[in-house]
Amino acid sequence: MRIDIIAIFPEMFEGPFTESIIKRAVNKGIVEIGLHNLRDYSTDKHHKVDDYSFAAGAGMVMMIEPVDNCITHLKSQRSYDEVIYMSPDGEILNQPLCNQLSMKENLIILCGHYKGIDERIREHLITKEISIGDYVLSGGELGAAVLVDSLVRLIPGALGDETSALSDSFQDGLVSPPVYTRPREYKGWSVPDILLSGNDMKINEWKLEQALLRTQERRPEMYEKFKADSKNSSL
Ligand code: SAH
Repeated sequence: MRIDIIAIFPEMFEGPFTESIIKRAVNKGIVEIGLHNLRDYSTDKHHKVDDYSFAAGAGMVMMIEPVDNCITHLKSQRSYDEVIYMSPDGEILNQPLCNQLSMKENLIILCGHYKGIDERIREHLITKEISIGDYVLSGGELGAAVLVDSLVRLIPGALGDETSALSDSFQDGLVSPPVYTRPREYKGWSVPDILLSGNDMKINEWKLEQALLRTQERRPEMYEKFKADSKNSSL
């Protein structure tokens, strides 16, 4: 998979992309990440990428030309499955959307800043808009880092077996059951006996029971959907 990110602060990705799973995936060649500074695509002598909004008092807006130049340049090198704009009013990122996007070959992610981007970019150049939640960030970079992390860990080979993405929360429509490690007893707080029983069938039953209980308590809407889906699939 290749991901090209267009941003005015590409240095912001240095932390998240140079540690842990993303770093390993890049080193293994599982994912290639291209960072592009939008200012390099400005024809203005001061590398300007924003201008005043036509609406009075609205603040600065990112201009079309540098974005168009950058996207055109990238598209001349390969074809892209999606040109994504990180936006608070986009489709809210969730696990099914991550699963779907992780199977794509090439993606472009555009990060906005200031008051946002000229609407004509969204109309003519963007194919998908994604939000990481109902709150407003200062820029799209942090959102793009969240999106990239959630996609890369799903690409086969990115995670070791011990952290398999398939057993994570949301993959089967439930949140994850609790997990424990050594010591068995700490300050009198002990690990549930069942986990030390060595009986795999009983342990799996316990995990499912716990996942159901947690989902019912913490995410009632998800629990109702899980119950309805299980009923339909057993009809
Ligand atoms: N005026 C806009 C907010 C602009 S915030 C509005 O009210 O909708 C500046 C940039 O941060 C946006 O262009 C977008 O790229 C990014 N951004 C802000 N909140 C986001 C969110 N919840 N998810 C993804 N990107 C977000």
